[in-house]
Amino acid sequence: MKKMDIREAKKRKIDEINNEIHDLRSSADLDLAQAIDCIKENIIEAEQINYHEGITNAYRIISILYTYNGEASLALEALNKAEEMCLDYCLDKRLLAEIYNTYVLYYLEVKKNYKMGAKYCSKGLQIARKLQLYDLISKLTMNFGVVCLELGILKESLEYFLESLEIGKMINDKRAILYSYANIADYYYQVDCIGKARDYHSKTILLAEELNDIIVMSSTALGFATIEKGLGNYDQAKMILLESIERLKQNNQKSWEANLSLVLFEHMLEEEDFKDIDTLIYNIREVVLGINNESYLEKFYFLLSNYYEKTKDFKKALECYKLYDNCHAKNLEKKEVESINALKMEMMQTTIKRLKTLSEVGKEIASYNNLTDIFSKVRNLVTTVFDDFNFVIALVEGKTIRSIYYNYLGEEIAPFEISLDNKSSFISYSARSKEVIVLNDLEKEYQNYVDSIKYVADETRVPKSLLSIPLTVFEKVVGVFQIQTYERNVFSTENVEFFSVIASYTGVALRNSMHAMQLENIANEDSLTGLKNWHYFNKTLFEEAHKRKSSELMTLIILDIDHFKKVNDIYGHGLGNKCLQEVSERIDKEFSDIARVVARIGGEEFAVFIIGQNVDLVKIKLWSLYNCFNEMPIELEEVACNVTVSIGVVFTDKSGVNADSLFDAADDALYEAKEAGRNKIIFKKL
Ligand code: GH3
Ligand code: MG
Ligand code: MG
Repeated sequence: MKKMDIREAKKRKIDEINNEIHDLRSSADLDLAQAIDCIKENIIEAEQINYHEGITNAYRIISILYTYNGEASLALEALNKAEEMCLDYCLDKRLLAEIYNTYVLYYLEVKKNYKMGAKYCSKGLQIARKLQLYDLISKLTMNFGVVCLELGILKESLEYFLESLEIGKMINDKRAILYSYANIADYYYQVDCIGKARDYHSKTILLAEELNDIIVMSSTALGFATIEKGLGNYDQAKMILLESIERLKQNNQKSWEANLSLVLFEHMLEEEDFKDIDTLIYNIREVVLGINNESYLEKFYFLLSNYYEKTKDFKKALECYKLYDNCHAKNLEKKEVESINALKMEMMQTTIKRLKTLSEVGKEIASYNNLTDIFSKVRNLVTTVFDDFNFVIALVEGKTIRSIYYNYLGEEIAPFEISLDNKSSFISYSARSKEVIVLNDLEKEYQNYVDSIKYVADETRVPKSLLSIPLTVFEKVVGVFQIQTYERNVFSTENVEFFSVIASYTGVALRNSMHAMQLENIANEDSLTGLKNWHYFNKTLFEEAHKRKSSELMTLIILDIDHFKKVNDIYGHGLGNKCLQEVSERIDKEFSDIARVVARIGGEEFAVFIIGQNVDLVKIKLWSLYNCFNEMPIELEEVACNVTVSIGVVFTDKSGVNADSLFDAADDALYEAKEAGRNKIIFKKL
């Protein structure tokens, strides 16, 4: 055989085993524990050849088996795995719909959570209807009916059952017909149409026998007997139960035999019908002890104690009551363990869900290169976990840390700077030590990290827990993020892990955004002087003039070095450059505190653009700069170079003045200054 053929053959065998066990799942011949082992082996086989469909389907089937075996957490675990694989590997949609249907079974049978059942029904139906998978449509509509019945939406439930029955007949699916009969019977019972209920019960039992479906047969018999007893037909009820018990005995279905026998025992006690009861008691004892089912045993001793009480054998009654009490205590303990397991399982599920969103969100965060977007996304994520918290995100830039603080109302408090060496800041500590700090009782634990706690001044509430995570990229700390909450003990290991992963993505995003900022700076800066370049100046002038409020003062200053050609000629180009740097520095020093832009806009030409401020302040600064050139020569390697500048200035507080007219006016003023003999300031008003 070729290699491919062998794989195909193995796949077929895996499918066969899966299908066989699936079909046998509710029949008399299936030993659940054995079936579970068999499916486990099948999973291993399928894993060996990487047969994803086979593995997924096996997980789905094993979940059904666990469900029937009453092992809730294992059933859910297997089902989650099946769903996850189906989605991850984009497997057949039919399989996905089957998985949703199995979820329905789980929620109806084990959890009695009908709303969840409805949710998965509609998920499954959506797929099944789209792909016209009639067998699944039939199953899911039926389950929808069950959900409706349980939730008391009676009319709809019948409609769903009838739809399911019709489809079952159309595709000749006897199991679908069987389940529909059973459910329709239940429906009629609930709406007190006893005649119709009996009809459908009989139909159900007949078909269940034909299909050897012990579960449906037994549960139908139970329901049937309950109805008859409720109607006062005790004899009828007893007969139904006896017949079923006999059939179960023949089929060696001990668990169901015990179940029905106990119900019969209970009925007989109520009716005080003690004829043949000793045989029944003997049989129950055999069966229940044989299958070692604690909850059946508990019920048995309870009923037995009642029986002896009624027959006035108080000694035996007390004995049995003690046995019952013993079982009861044991079972309680077991139930507790089971509920703890279920709880753990649910926690794991939330973790898995979180991790899924996490990787998606993480990728999204990492794709941002704008700080505001990053901050708000990360803060939003915190909102999914906590309601009431402060959030700080900080950027480490050399020895300083720039922090943005959002208070518990989500308001952004003005950014503040702290030193990396600050000894009373958790942020500085995290940045220095690269350590994650988790404080679940801030007041008690803070001393291990900082000298004292300083809260943001305007906060009146005092945080109780704190989580501080350094944002590192390749070992380098680029920032820190911190969450403070007003409750103690909120940072579980799970939460810390969650935010640590978020932090790693945030670190990458921050680094990217810093790169983007650096690139932008390179694009906007003049490399010789470090001032802004013509491109940036021009853009800003246009934007600011456009958005300015009408009466706001705008000032544009253009400066040109006088006879700069001579400087180059005398000292050479290199010193000429140095001279340009010195001039730039003087201009920047004078105006950087009030200017919107200080730029080098040509070879030896500079511009200062100011918005707001007042004319007098600008004039004072201009004269100061002017005097500086006249009084202090520029030092160029041991020679003092006397440099003067010509300056054109334009002020305007008029509305509607655009960037071009402002520039032209300043340029004209500069020209006039040159014309008037240089080393002059010419003021203009528009
Ligand atoms: P004016 O008083 O009329 O402005 O005379 P000027 O010599 O300053 O004016 P002009 O525009 O004729 O010459 C400008 C000179 O500036 C020409 C050029 O050699 C020099 N220059 C332009 N860019 C640079 C530069 O980046 N480095 C140096 N060293 N010189 C530059
Ligand atoms: Mg010039
Ligand atoms: Mg010049």
